[in-house]
Amino acid sequence: ATEDIKILLLENVNQTGRDILAEQGYQVEDVHVIGIRSKTKLTARVLKEARNLIVIGCFCIGTNQVDLHYAADHGIAVFNSPFSNSRSVAELVIAEIIALARQLGDRSNEMHSGTWNKVSSKCWEVRGIIGYGHIGSQLSVLAEAMGMSVIYYDVINLMAMGTARQVPTLEVLLAGADFVSCHVPELPETRNMIGYQQFEQMKDGGYLINASRGSVVDISALIQAMRTGKIAGAALDVYPHEPTGNGDYFNNNLHPWCTDLRALKNLILTPHIGGSTEEAQSAIGVEVGQALVRYVNEGTTVGAVNFPEVNLRSLTMDEPNHARVVFIHRNVPGVLRKVNEALSDHNVDKQMTDSRGDVAYLLADISNVDTVTIKDLYERLECLSSRIMTRILY
Ligand code: NAD
Repeated sequence: ATEDIKILLLENVNQTGRDILAEQGYQVEDVHVIGIRSKTKLTARVLKEARNLIVIGCFCIGTNQVDLHYAADHGIAVFNSPFSNSRSVAELVIAEIIALARQLGDRSNEMHSGTWNKVSSKCWEVRGIIGYGHIGSQLSVLAEAMGMSVIYYDVINLMAMGTARQVPTLEVLLAGADFVSCHVPELPETRNMIGYQQFEQMKDGGYLINASRGSVVDISALIQAMRTGKIAGAALDVYPHEPTGNGDYFNNNLHPWCTDLRALKNLILTPHIGGSTEEAQSAIGVEVGQALVRYVNEGTTVGAVNFPEVNLRSLTMDEPNHARVVFIHRNVPGVLRKVNEALSDHNVDKQMTDSRGDVAYLLADISNVDTVTIKDLYERLECLSSRIMTRILY
């Protein structure tokens, strides 16, 4: 029953909430649901203690802090919030396009140090950009609204927003855009995707913006391109190595490029704040919160990062004598036959199963059940050797 579900929320959960949870004395051993952000490490060692855990909600984008494989192997679904801050990143990039075109950072720094330096040379009105996933396409809409013409490159063919136009290769994009803005995921193929050769292929006096991942742009190549004037300006929000907390990271010469970057003109440096807005934070809360509730109450795994996505659309389990079976199991031959044997005393209204690696997830809506037959069915499924976790929702 819903009232029996125990939840543990960590990291910056509102104080009032924390007090209430502390009073209850919740511990990892007892809880069914854990909500974390990026700092709590849920390693195999920690998860081993969490014997009742069914789901983890990462109220953030990344999921590196969780041992996803161990979790899947023990029937624990993990959810995150991949797209709630897309708009925030797109807005930052729009601000940077204008700021770079008008050298706002430099003029403001000069004024802060007492210098009046009114210039118009090499200051432009804006034209052209790239990139096309969740963030890239948002950016496209905002950029067109400002009168920019948008071209984009992506490995897959994507429908263009407004009058944006997809180009066939990165080279064509680099040669055609005044502002190149990267919005690709961190992958082996995107590592140093913008390097010496790509800067050469860009327009003279073009601009580069990277608010995706630090591995995407080769920093040495950027430094060289800016020193030679090939690139007129750049904005970086992400870096090959980033500190885990706030402090004088860029001062301590941990990485040789810190000093070089600090010395460059018309380079906007921000500490990975692309998605850091109040709106994005509350959107994360809603997105992950709803995913957790759907998983706990309905067994739906849509959006899980370590499970196959399984969903049975219309819910019959709320009706009398209906129940929904969630059976998480090893992906081995013969399981479905045994599960269906166990279900055979009931009407199966709907059933869906899918696998991801070693783990498979089955949902079945059954009717013609009562509390006794549900208990019996639960025990039969729990006895199957392939079983990872069984839940029956009714
Ligand atoms: P997304 O998955 O929606 O879109 C990524 C797009 O890149 C997809 O359309 C994909 O087809 C394309 N792509 C993949 N490999 C490619 C390649 N080799 N060449 C060209 N295109 C390729 O992702 P998103 O939500 O738009 O996020 C984009 C990036 O922004 C990610 O790296 C994400 O981690 C980062 N991000 C940064 C911040 C921040 O605070 N700065 C916040 C959110 C996301």
